[in-house]
Amino acid sequence: MIRVGIGYDSHRFVEGRPLGLGGVRIPHSRGLAGHSDADAVAHALTDAILGAAAAGDIGQLFPDSDPRWKDADSMQLLHSAHDLVRGRGYAFAQADLTIITEQPRLGPHLGSMATTLTERLGARPGSVNLKAKTNEGMGFIGRGEGIAVIAVATLEVR
Ligand SMILES: [Zn+2]
Repeated sequence: MIRVGIGYDSHRFVEGRPLGLGGVRIPHSRGLAGHSDADAVAHALTDAILGAAAAGDIGQLFPDSDPRWKDADSMQLLHSAHDLVRGRGYAFAQADLTIITEQPRLGPHLGSMATTLTERLGARPGSVNLKAKTNEGMGFIGRGEGIAVIAVATLEVR
């Protein structure tokens, strides 16, 4: 039996923070604002995995009102969420993500993000796919104010 979950996340670009997506540091003039390290790729994938297990969402597990999660390593949060769903009898099967931003160009970094996420989940090579696109200049993404990520993940019942 297969279960499917969806995740969405967005963060605002700010000066003075590094840009980390999918556990990979990406050279850029701005990073993302957030209570944690604001890794929107890790957050969207975490929500997709939790959603597939009907286990709530990242905000319930790691509330931003809790000082424990200030500047938290989002790849660690992903790992913890994956542990939680495994404990409920699910195994991660695969995920597909789309990152939407005008800048920076993420194409050269998608492979290392996929490898990092796959390894962090202990999943088979090729089980995480990432795509990047712009928003054709429209809206908050088009104005370069922020980034958005959509993720779909499937879990197998063990
Ligand atoms: Zn987030």
